Formats: sequence, C-alpha cells, structure tokens
Amino acid sequence: MNSDLEYLPVPAAGLDRIRCNGHDDYGNPVVARTADAGTPLRCCLRLSAAGEQIALIAFQPSALGGPYAEIGPVFIHVDECPGPVDDGFPADFLDRRAILRPYDASGSMLDGVLAEPGMSEGELKRLFDDPQVQVVQVRNVIAGCWNFSVRRSAS
Ligand SMILES: [Zn+2]
Repeated sequence: MNSDLEYLPVPAAGLDRIRCNGHDDYGNPVVARTADAGTPLRCCLRLSAAGEQIALIAFQPSALGGPYAEIGPVFIHVDECPGPVDDGFPADFLDRRAILRPYDASGSMLDGVLAEPGMSEGELKRLFDDPQVQVVQVRNVIAGCWNFSVRRSAS
C-alpha cells in the first residue's frame, strides 16, 4: 500500500544518541517510568500498553530551524524499539483530536487546522494541496505536544 505522505517519528539516530547519552539533547536525564495504557509514543507512533518502560524527553521536531522550531516534551521507549511498523497514517492517532500545523520551507508557520477525531488524515491531504506547505506537525490539542511530522514522500 503506497502513500504519498511520510509520517515521521523521532528519528532513529536521535533516539540512539539520547539513549546512549542517558540524557536528551537539552541535558534532561532519561528516567524510566512505567506507562499507563494510551500514552502516545513518538518513537513507534502508537499508544503504549500498560507496563511498558517509557521516558519523557525534550525534543525539537523541526529540521527546518528558525524561531518557530519549538522544543517540547515527548514520550519514547526507554530501550531500543522497532519504530513504526506501518508507513501510513499511524492507526492509533486516527481517532484523536489533533492540531495540524503546516510550515513552509523556511520553517515559518502557516494557517493550522483543528482536526476532529477521524478527520486528521483528510485534513492533512488538503493542507498538502498547498505547494507552500513543506511539513505538517500533528500535535495534541490541549498541551500542544508534538506527536509526529508529515511530509510528501520523495518520489
Ligand atoms: Zn518505541
């Protein structure tokens, strides 16, 4: 099943570096905690099962830089993990409300969208109809935490 969009977790190289260092890129130690069910994991782009070992780290999801490149908290698996198993829209995130924030090539934010449950995938496709849009960040509605980024697949 091919998709014209790519869904990007915390990159594997970044996860390796953070786990190896024992702290994130901002000096916060990686502290293991036991997950409740339903915590969004930004390494595997799925919700946690109860009992998994996870950690909260600070992460800057934008590779574009600039003043809009926010750093924020994300949950990851403490230990090495397989990453996303599918390359389509992450199934566990389909029925969540989300903020979709588009950015242009310079990393400046364009007009975002509040997506109701089940609407994120369609709203993303609509946002990418605008050729100015380079990347869209999918974020939590209340806390604003980054869930994953989306870009057009390189063809
Ligand atoms: Zn993981």
